[in-house]
Amino acid sequence: MHIILLGPPGSGKGTQAQRIAEHYGIPHISTGHILREAVRSGSDLGRQVGATIAAGSLVSDTLITEIVRARLQEPDVASGALLDGFPRTVGQAGALDTIVPPDHLIVLLLQVVDEEIVRRMMRRRICQSCGITQTVPDSEAGEAGHCPRCGDPLVRREDDAPEIVRHRLRTYAALADPLIAFYASRPGFAAVDGLQPPENVTAALFGHVDRIRHSKESKGSK
Ligand code: AMP
Repeated sequence: MHIILLGPPGSGKGTQAQRIAEHYGIPHISTGHILREAVRSGSDLGRQVGATIAAGSLVSDTLITEIVRARLQEPDVASGALLDGFPRTVGQAGALDTIVPPDHLIVLLLQVVDEEIVRRMMRRRICQSCGITQTVPDSEAGEAGHCPRCGDPLVRREDDAPEIVRHRLRTYAALADPLIAFYASRPGFAAVDGLQPPENVTAALFGHVDRIRHSKESKGSK
């Protein structure tokens, strides 16, 4: 079972991705997290992508696809994975179809309007160590508390600065429609209203995954 979670930056994708991965016992693969880790460790990859990420622009389809292809060949993802932040373009989606059989994909879209996204992202902090996202009450707090999982400080992502957020949203808006159109007619596709309380979003996402899996299994057994 390979699940893709699509949605704009700040739609709650990271949180929901983590819940789906835990619930179904599959690894959570966040391309943003992989790239941020590379930047933090100072690797060749990190040096290559650091400026692009800081500016809120996208790294090339070729580079990100190769990273995902390599990750999806590791043994822990043999029975599936949750992809968060990939694919972001039709080119990446086409490439993914050559890595995972298209009928094995479950594609979930989180829908959230722009005004709400900017509001949420001003309050978003990330744990630099384990990468989990938290929402803090005060948008002005530079550092706000500690990670509930590992205890390290929560910090604002460099690319969550307001002007960079606007650039990221414009990039998403330009690419999202064709990407959604690429998947929308597939039986494994479902959209969820991301403005609901997070628990309701999670329940709706689980509901779609269970329904889609069930219908794929019953088709497979016929
Ligand atoms: P995210 O954590 O998903 O918001 O990703 C953070 C940043 O990593 C993005 O703004 C891009 O610079 C880069 N990135 C992550 N995933 C991709 C992707 N699939 N294609 C291109 N760039 C990506």
